[in-house]
Amino acid sequence: MPPLVVYQNYVHGQYVSNSTGETFEVINPATGQVSYLVETADADIQQSAMASAKSGFAIWSKLTPIERSRILLKAVELLREQNDELAEVEVLDTGKPWQEASVVDVVTGADSIEFFAGLAPSIEGNQQPIGDDFYYTRREPLGICAGIGAWNYPLQIACWKAAPALACGNVMIFKPSEETPRGAMRLAEVFTQAGVPDGVFNVLQGDGRVGAWLTEHEDIAKVSFTGEVGTGKKVMAAAAGSLKDVTMELGGKSPLIIFNDADIENAISAAMLGNFYTQGEICTNGTRVFVQKDIYPRFIERLVERTEQNIICGNPMNPETNFGALISKSHQQKVLDYIEIGKSEGATLLTGGTALQPENCPNGYFIAPTIFTDCNDEMTIAKEEIFGPVMTVLTFESEEEVVRRANNTQLGLAAGVFTQDISRAHRIIHQMQAGICWINAYGASPAEMPVGGYKMSGIGRENGSETLKAYTQIKAVYVGMQPLDSPF
Ligand code: NAD
Repeated sequence: MPPLVVYQNYVHGQYVSNSTGETFEVINPATGQVSYLVETADADIQQSAMASAKSGFAIWSKLTPIERSRILLKAVELLREQNDELAEVEVLDTGKPWQEASVVDVVTGADSIEFFAGLAPSIEGNQQPIGDDFYYTRREPLGICAGIGAWNYPLQIACWKAAPALACGNVMIFKPSEETPRGAMRLAEVFTQAGVPDGVFNVLQGDGRVGAWLTEHEDIAKVSFTGEVGTGKKVMAAAAGSLKDVTMELGGKSPLIIFNDADIENAISAAMLGNFYTQGEICTNGTRVFVQKDIYPRFIERLVERTEQNIICGNPMNPETNFGALISKSHQQKVLDYIEIGKSEGATLLTGGTALQPENCPNGYFIAPTIFTDCNDEMTIAKEEIFGPVMTVLTFESEEEVVRRANNTQLGLAAGVFTQDISRAHRIIHQMQAGICWINAYGASPAEMPVGGYKMSGIGRENGSETLKAYTQIKAVYVGMQPLDSPF
């Protein structure tokens, strides 16, 4: 066996080795094998990343917005040129199918950078006369921002955080999930190739300890975090120590509501996409599928038929595969435990429910697409985020009932409705306590559309022009045109 490759931290435009020699292993979820090692960002690396970010900010924040835009657009071009290579990195790190990564992950990451690069030159202040005097405002960058990512869309998350931050003249120190460290490193390389100055985007590797160091550091102005609700609370509490601004993209347990007049095949596509795409590891998943009672038997019959016939599980790099491996053995076990709880609490397992060992990937962390029926709102599987391919189907009779039940959760990330009745569609969606909603669609998240959660699913938004405000601060400047009127 050749020795494993060891990746390093990316600081000031290059890879640098740590002093302690501490490394961690990264496992390919489809094979269960260690793919490579990564050096942990020790104290020396952390200090140099901070010094580098300060010098990067001095240069980047002084460029004109159109100069920043031009450089970021070059990065977009490079990301698109390297799409397949980067998509493969994501497949090997996450276990998701190549079929998805090659058309979604890099593409949507590049789109976000393109979107914010386009907006950068439009950031402007205003002015207003106050008698003969006047004041004006400047939208200034915040300074050094920290990005902390989850493992499900590593490169995309890094792009979605870096794009608005850099477009507004900030710099970012990004810490990817320790389970998927490579996407962000590759983004850092692309930024350097595109001409982004050294220190504008540094990548630190490691677990929650490195994340905690960032969130506590006095010189970090803002933390943009993607991950679990519980970790989000810790990050926010730590950020409070130095009154940092935060963006929180957290978990969900989103409702997908299907009325009896819906196009059933379309609604089933949404239920499958919203539970089985990326093998169920998507924060916005519609894991509580509410089906109106009179179409329930037909819905279930076709749902099970399509799930059993159309899902192809196996080696994620095989272009035919449309259903990959879960991120880790421990996460696979956590999802299997939820399935056991579902059975023990009285839900009916219609299909799936077991680990899978596809012939071409027998040691990967796969779980069969799983559908539970005869569920009620009090069951654990209907209440907690599972983050795996487990769908809970519930029935309802009236609009009033389904709105009440759909909102009966502390989470509020997303919601979807399927109906041909246009008034009902909007009426339902306007009552949903959720930040990301779909009507006769599910899961699409273009760069133009702001995304983020209500309630405990998050704070702030990513993407959309809204986000520019979250990466700038207003300076108001009063200009006196007359001698000062003073009693002294
Ligand atoms: P996680 O909370 O375990 O980890 C997220 C990141 O936080 C990792 O980089 C981790 O190293 C870091 N971290 C851990 N402890 C920390 C601490 N004390 N201080 C600072 N950083 C710390 O989440 P995960 O398991 O990587 O991701 C899955 C979760 O992410 C799910 O709940 C999912 O819903 C959520 N998610 C949300 C969105 C969204 O946009 N709303 C998108 C993707 C994933």
